[in-house]
Amino acid sequence: MKVLVLGGAGYIGSHVVKAMLAAGHDVTVFDNLGSGQLGNLFPEAKFIAGDIRHADDVNAAFARGFDGCVHLAAYKAVGESMAEPEKYSVNNISGTLNMLNAACAHGCKNVVFSSSAAVFGSPQYVPIDERHPTDPESYYGFTKLEIERFLAWYDRLKGVRYAALRYFNAAGYDVDGRIDGLERNPQNLLPIVMEVASGWRKELQIFGQDYDTRDGTCVRDYVHVADLAQAHVNALAYIAKNDRSLTVNLGSEKGVTVTEMVEVARKITGKEIPAAYVGRRSGDASALYATSALARETIGWAPKYSDVETLVASTWKVYQKYKAPGEKK
Ligand code: UDP
Repeated sequence: MKVLVLGGAGYIGSHVVKAMLAAGHDVTVFDNLGSGQLGNLFPEAKFIAGDIRHADDVNAAFARGFDGCVHLAAYKAVGESMAEPEKYSVNNISGTLNMLNAACAHGCKNVVFSSSAAVFGSPQYVPIDERHPTDPESYYGFTKLEIERFLAWYDRLKGVRYAALRYFNAAGYDVDGRIDGLERNPQNLLPIVMEVASGWRKELQIFGQDYDTRDGTCVRDYVHVADLAQAHVNALAYIAKNDRSLTVNLGSEKGVTVTEMVEVARKITGKEIPAAYVGRRSGDASALYATSALARETIGWAPKYSDVETLVASTWKVYQKYKAPGEKK
């Protein structure tokens, strides 16, 4: 298939491109390199520099003719979305509408969308399945949920088939070591742990130690980015073959506490990784993890790399190539 990957130079996007190429697709990346990086591009994929906020850019890209697209071009920082919702409205929501309209105008009927567990908000029960009520706590999560609703309408009205993939906590790096671009200004637990291990930060702050969990720290469902990437390949095949849309959770189904993650990181890096327990971060749920039964049944998805050791080791391998953020050794 001819596949356009919007946001294909980003952290998850580059892994998706790798998986799409491995599956034999003819891949084109569309990216404004705002957070994506040239170094994440694959020579086997074509590249279009463009911005989803500009309808002309998106139209020109889709005019090349694609059977399917994967849409990952979005802002994703929860805290920032609460402080600067305008950015998220324009990029995530308007940008997606540009993408959907261009896809329809040029006959691209299959859309794989990178959604998020943030659509659920505070869990009413775990593991979280697809029927769990959606009530996002952040504006970021709201944008993802709204886009899922637009997709459902475009399915009804325009015959677009979509797969909304609700990622839990994406982590890890390409196990072959081909993708090694570090995210700029990372906000998530594992990159921050790696920055401490690398000596770029003095210590890790652990947000809360009085949660009702096995060691008092929050439980999350970390899923390897290569496993997520494979889900995009499977989902695209599914919606194209069955002419049916799909919304699925993608998690490893294994809850890991913050302390457990740090312990494994200490073992694998051999570094002390100083950590201080500080107060809870507002909006954090104590335990969030998925059931991915539906993804297993529909798209035959089973995570292969989402054990904590592989998550940490594949990330550490990349961090070891750098002497400072953005500066390779
Ligand atoms: N966390 C932490 N210190 C940090 C960053 C994250 O203790 O510097 C915790 C956070 O409270 C949460 C888990 O690590 O329980 C994962 O956080 P992250 O921001 O990576 O993802 P989230 O689950 O919020 O989407």
